[in-house]
Amino acid sequence: MAAQETVDHKYVYDFAEGNKDQKDLLGGKGANLAEMTNIGLPVPPGFTITTEACKAYLTTGAEPAGLAEQISAHLGGLERAMGRKLGDPRDPLLVSVRSGAKFSMPGMMETVLNVGLNDDSVVGLSAQAGGNDRFAWDSYRRLIQMFGKTVCDVPGEEFEHALDEAKRAKGTTNDLDLDADDLRALVDAYKKIFSKHTGREFPQDPREQLDLAIKAVFESWNAERAIIYRRQERIPADLGTAVNVVTMVFGNLGPDSGTGVAFTRDPASGAQGIYGDYLANAQGEDVVAGIRNTVPLQELERIDKKSYDELLDYMARLEGHYKDLCDIEFTIERGKLWMLQTRVGKRTAAAAFVIAGQLVDEGLIDLDEALHRVNGAQLAQLMFPRFKLDHEFTPVAKGIGASPGAAVGKVVFTSARAVELAGEGEAVILVRRETNPDDLNGMIAAQGILTSRGGKTSHAAVVARGMGKTCVSGADELDVNIPAKKFTVAGRAVNEGDVISIDGTTGKVYLGEVPVMPSEVVQYFEGELDPEQTDDALVKAVHRIMTHADARRRLAVRTNADTGADAARARRFGAQGIGLCRTEHMFLGERRELVERLILSATDAERQDALAALLPLQREDFIEIFREMDGLPVTVRLIDPPLHEFLPPLEQLAVNVAVAQERGEDVAKEEALLAAVRRMHEENPMLGLRGVRLGLVIPGLFAMQVRAIAEAAVAVTRGGGSAGPEIMVPLVGAVQELETVRAEAEKIIAEVVGDSGVEVLIGTMIEVPRAALTAGQIAEAAQFFSFGTNDLTQMGWGFSRDDVEGAFFWRYLELGIFGISPFESIDREGVGRLVRIAAEEGRAARPELKLGVCGEHGGDPDSVHFFHEVGLDYVSCSPFRVPVARLEAGRAAVETTGSDSR
Ligand code: PEP
Ligand code: MG
Repeated sequence: MAAQETVDHKYVYDFAEGNKDQKDLLGGKGANLAEMTNIGLPVPPGFTITTEACKAYLTTGAEPAGLAEQISAHLGGLERAMGRKLGDPRDPLLVSVRSGAKFSMPGMMETVLNVGLNDDSVVGLSAQAGGNDRFAWDSYRRLIQMFGKTVCDVPGEEFEHALDEAKRAKGTTNDLDLDADDLRALVDAYKKIFSKHTGREFPQDPREQLDLAIKAVFESWNAERAIIYRRQERIPADLGTAVNVVTMVFGNLGPDSGTGVAFTRDPASGAQGIYGDYLANAQGEDVVAGIRNTVPLQELERIDKKSYDELLDYMARLEGHYKDLCDIEFTIERGKLWMLQTRVGKRTAAAAFVIAGQLVDEGLIDLDEALHRVNGAQLAQLMFPRFKLDHEFTPVAKGIGASPGAAVGKVVFTSARAVELAGEGEAVILVRRETNPDDLNGMIAAQGILTSRGGKTSHAAVVARGMGKTCVSGADELDVNIPAKKFTVAGRAVNEGDVISIDGTTGKVYLGEVPVMPSEVVQYFEGELDPEQTDDALVKAVHRIMTHADARRRLAVRTNADTGADAARARRFGAQGIGLCRTEHMFLGERRELVERLILSATDAERQDALAALLPLQREDFIEIFREMDGLPVTVRLIDPPLHEFLPPLEQLAVNVAVAQERGEDVAKEEALLAAVRRMHEENPMLGLRGVRLGLVIPGLFAMQVRAIAEAAVAVTRGGGSAGPEIMVPLVGAVQELETVRAEAEKIIAEVVGDSGVEVLIGTMIEVPRAALTAGQIAEAAQFFSFGTNDLTQMGWGFSRDDVEGAFFWRYLELGIFGISPFESIDREGVGRLVRIAAEEGRAARPELKLGVCGEHGGDPDSVHFFHEVGLDYVSCSPFRVPVARLEAGRAAVETTGSDSR
């Protein structure tokens, strides 16, 4: 049925003309129907109208020139092939009109079945079906219902209502009890509903039905639910949908007919076997509507052995052809099997790894391809603990899985109470209607966060994900009463202190404590599960793919760690050194007071005292870390605290002093402290006296740290170990800052290191835009750069990193100004450009310059691909992200273009 195109632009393709790689043009469904047709599987004949036709229609509001003629030509071909004419009164050809965009948007767009039926052809259909009047009238009433609803916006409930009425009159609740006469009467009722709402008769002309249905599918691309879905799934708004016009085949022609779905492997676990459901004497929409219960696909062997064997053969062929898990929709019409759809099937994270491993074993793909088929987001998901669920636990509510993980704790309703109970060692779940920035401390203290309002981009969701905290948002069955400290759900009251469990992956909420299972993947990374010994298919697959990622990647992966314990864990997870040891974290707790003394000291002597007290403590800190990272590089960053984090809060201090004065107490010391805090108070501490600025203002501070680092390295080396210290200067914006620090540091290092053989590198963070733009100069004084993309993002966008995520990012995400927080995934065009410039100009000035990144982006999958492309030597991330970064660095190495995790 080759078309005789009369115009230049081709808008319509027969199934025999397309292939699976034409998803942009033919949509996913159309491209795969074409592919199945071409490999000889039984697909009902049909054609696809391209996404370009849809886009043209949506732009101009009219069908593009030539489309109508091309449809006529392809329809003519279809009619000749089938030996039937659309809507022929004696022997009608009927078609379905189905949407099919590039990316699957389940249930979002329209489908119209049985196009071509009218008052005359319904009789011909009955004859075709061997005099089955019931079937013919049922098909007709389905057409009016679907057509009315999707093409002409007739409220669907009215049809439902009329159907219910017909069943009530018959004294039944089952559609199958309605006979041909009942259905004929129902068709009359439906037609009345149709004309009441549209002001016209139900169209009898089959071609008019077809044209209107095609336009309705085009228009459904811009239906509100489709727009919302696309925004959620980050599917571009300008792709348009293709339209598939397919010869109808019927699964509801009797017991030798039926419909079903099948998977070539288990999409949940990846296990091989036969997975699917079958429903005899039914159409696909009956399965979706859940009117009758399906049977497991295996039953088909008993019902219709020939079709079953054929289906298994086609499934094997599809797997061999697509080299991946496929899902399939099929229909059996009077013993004849038809393939209605296939696609590479969605799967769980665990199944993705297991299947990739199996396909390598079967010789269908190689290890590079296996690596390409999994991603860091899936791996991260597998590293969260999960609930051990059995029948005892039924959820009481389901919200949105906003931030994954499994959390169990006592319910609290305020941030203050969360902090208080957590301080007593209790695990708590913070429950709110919605959260706002005032809840931040409570969110930090809680195991998990549960809200009754808000979606995936609400404050609670965005902030929880940023913190890696379990969160369920928008559980709207919960009636939360904060003043009464309780919520009610499913008729039960839950009070403060009651235990609940929330699942941030599924969004389910349970009353009581659900036991939590550790992740077997984490156990493997921890070295507790031997991949050679275990029979856990997931662990084996993860091990195999990780090993390959390590073999392929060019980027090294380091960790951000400032304790021995974190360093040790990261090393077990595969870290190849430390990329960022934040030394200010070593000044918390009881040492805080020493830092306060140091900052506020009025005299040289006071300052020297404080520094002398800090030196041995710091030395011990570094010894511990160098030991854990024996033989590997350790980048120690000189102190970079925003000052306010180390000083008592001004307001609090002022109140205390005022109260004490009122009482007539002696407050001379406090007054002096208050004066000093006032003197140092900053409106914008993040842009104030921090990093290298602090080091240049407080004499001896950096010197003390440099000495401690060098002494620790020497001590470890003399003890038989091997330390690789790299001293990093933070917040440099001008080469002169770095030169000043470096001159002093080199003197100390030379003095301490002597002939110990220890080599200490000196480098800088690139985290101020000016540093990125003058990287050529800075490289003259630096042996390495590490990109601080947190500050680079903060200063590049002018976004206060402490405030904006909760304050307005939800709105920016909603408006699509960005698809993901730039603090989470690198903004390639803006901040990324600064990285690129600095890397190029730094390397031009000093070819051996080592380049890394230690901002949060170092563990973000998409950003890792960017850092690979830019040519960095390593990424550094928190210990738990190390495996994710290893995997993504491997994927980046085997892929020529960036990551595509969809
Ligand atoms: C950064 O700014 O990216 C960085 C790693 O430093 P910090 O987060 O400590 O400011
Ligand atoms: Mg920084």
